[in-house]
Amino acid sequence: MREVELLVVGGGPAGLSAAAEAAGMGASVLVVDSGPRLGGQLIKQTHKFFGSRDEHAGTRGFKIAEMLMEEIAGRSEKVETMTDTTVVGYYREDGTVSLTCGEEEYFLVKPRKMVIAAGAQERLIPFPGNDLPGVYGAGAVQTLMNVYGVVPGRKVLMVGAGNIGIIVAYQLIQAGVEVAAVVEATPRVGGYWVHAAKIRRLGVPIHLMHSIKRALGEESVEGAAVMGLDDKFRPTGSEFTVDCDTICLAVGLTPTVELLWQAGCKMKYVPQLCGYVPVRDLNLRTTNHDIWVAGDSSGIEEASSAMVEGRLAGFGAAAALGYKPRPGRYESFVARLDHLRAGEVCDKIRAGLECVICEGGSDDVFYE
Ligand SMILES: Cc1cc2nc3c(=O)[nH]c(=O)nc-3n(C[C@H](O)[C@H](O)[C@H](O)COP(=O)(O)OP(=O)(O)OC[C@H]3O[C@@H](n4cnc5c(N)ncnc54)[C@H](O)[C@@H]3O)c2cc1C
Repeated sequence: MREVELLVVGGGPAGLSAAAEAAGMGASVLVVDSGPRLGGQLIKQTHKFFGSRDEHAGTRGFKIAEMLMEEIAGRSEKVETMTDTTVVGYYREDGTVSLTCGEEEYFLVKPRKMVIAAGAQERLIPFPGNDLPGVYGAGAVQTLMNVYGVVPGRKVLMVGAGNIGIIVAYQLIQAGVEVAAVVEATPRVGGYWVHAAKIRRLGVPIHLMHSIKRALGEESVEGAAVMGLDDKFRPTGSEFTVDCDTICLAVGLTPTVELLWQAGCKMKYVPQLCGYVPVRDLNLRTTNHDIWVAGDSSGIEEASSAMVEGRLAGFGAAAALGYKPRPGRYESFVARLDHLRAGEVCDKIRAGLECVICEGGSDDVFYE
């Protein structure tokens, strides 16, 4: 059993930012991540980020990860990091967590405070043949290509024209893979148009109001049947076949929240935030007062807001441990989040947050 002041679960942009901020205030921090490297989703983002300049817009995602890791390395006397280490359980009796390291080691940690920044999981959709080899989540394809240098196949059907579908389609083309088509169930492209325009210029058709009906093939994917949809997502009866050996599903993410459930945090289903998320106060403290949440675990947004949320959560946890707040930091995080979430494009996020933020502070809600 190890005792630590602050345990940060997840070494993505949210977790690394939380660790840097808390360590900067003087707290001793242990960051654990299940993956072989720190950086979360950022390590596979080869494109230049959108968003605010304060949050490194214009910089490639993996470079942002390097910058965060340098900041952590600069605070090495206060921050310890462990990769290949997964938090697998939370014990409510005394707030102990259990962890596995690699495949052999199992140990316990008793943190005084915890930030959960465990990111998100890919959604999949049911259709006949979706268990055939050759059907992937888009995030998995990005990891295969951009982290391990392996292409998933030769000819891909991309299902979903949100940011992830469009960006991964472009990155597949950059890696020399043919993208046969993109299908999107809604009447519009949800991703940034600059990326959609790039793949259109490269000759990739984007079929709006279409989705996959079934994967073709016996042993592995040999094609896909695509169907037209009406404005209520009902099949129109039109159907065509796409020649492909890979089907890539980019149909959304859902927050990773299992530990928050285990920790007894009050949870709420908020469609605008893409799933169950914890009720929290403005500082991201959950109804289990020893636990803060940040990043995609608090609702699906972007790396830019994940980093600022991480700072805010790390700040809050360190302050609760008794470390002195650095002047002006809190105000700057709140202003940066407000700025990132301004405008029509974030209407949905703001509406979702209204459902889970308890303005009076988490003392107002019951610990369940
Ligand atoms: C294709 C694509 C393109 C994107 N483009 C942009 C963009 O241009 N701009 C932008 O701002 N955002 C972009 N994003 C979104 C951005 O990557 C995410 O919003 C961001 O990474 C969320 O950060 P996070 O720290 O919350 O989660 P993650 O980056 O997912 O990190 C979570 C980490 O937690 C670890 N973990 C999970 N559970 C446990 C556990 N139990 N124990 C230990 N470790 C655990 C995981 O291994 C992971 O490393 C993009 C995402 C994708 C997929």
